[in-house]
Amino acid sequence: MIINKKHNIIVAGPCSAESFSQVDSIASKIHKNIDFFRAGVWKPRTNIDSFQGVGEVGLSWLKEIKVKYNVKVACEVANSKHVELCKKFKIDMVWLGARTTVNPFYVQEIAESLQNSKIQVYIKNPIVADMDLWYNAIKRMRSYNIKNIGAIHRGFYAERKINYRNKPKWSSVKEFSKKLKGINLICDCSHIAGDSSFVKELVLKSQELKYDGVMIETHDNPEKALSDSKQQIKPAEFNSFFINE
Ligand code: PEP
Ligand code: MN
Repeated sequence: MIINKKHNIIVAGPCSAESFSQVDSIASKIHKNIDFFRAGVWKPRTNIDSFQGVGEVGLSWLKEIKVKYNVKVACEVANSKHVELCKKFKIDMVWLGARTTVNPFYVQEIAESLQNSKIQVYIKNPIVADMDLWYNAIKRMRSYNIKNIGAIHRGFYAERKINYRNKPKWSSVKEFSKKLKGINLICDCSHIAGDSSFVKELVLKSQELKYDGVMIETHDNPEKALSDSKQQIKPAEFNSFFINE
């Protein structure tokens, strides 16, 4: 066993919701090992010709998954309109992507929309290694009295080519716990890895460093995934992380 469920917040599911049958099939296989089923419905893509996400209909699929498997559901938000829709579809947790954390205007409007709701919020680190941007996005959320705030380390843009897609800053675990007490920090092994073959070693590293949990992208047919196809792992591999040897 490399992930102990008792000591981890586990967020897993596909990068993007593609169809109801796609999310349903993945959830049916992994729901026993997760705290949150994730799927993005609005995708922040560099390229306009890439898949942009299914939008609102994806939230209705997540709502069905929540009831069918009795699991909490999560998706990415980038503005207050997204938050309002998440409220409508009873989404349990939202996360701010690396491209949103950088913008205090968006962080602000998301914080205002989340205020007085029960939705949990996790804030990913920004693309560039500006720790202050990250910490202050979290503090901005906290100033709105949002109770369930967490953070996600997804690695930083690497100027020089490295094996991974994004450069992890492992010292962030200690720095983080000093600066922001009481905020859970989870490790997004998939977006650091960028390649499914590196996910397991990053999960091991996250456990060694005592992160509070992991985010792992999981897809039945990664090669055919509409986004992040290289880095998603199959449900069987994901489930193998929990098996006692
Ligand atoms: C994602 O979680 O699918 C995503 C787009 O992440 P990030 O903001 O870390 O790039
Ligand atoms: Mn992704």
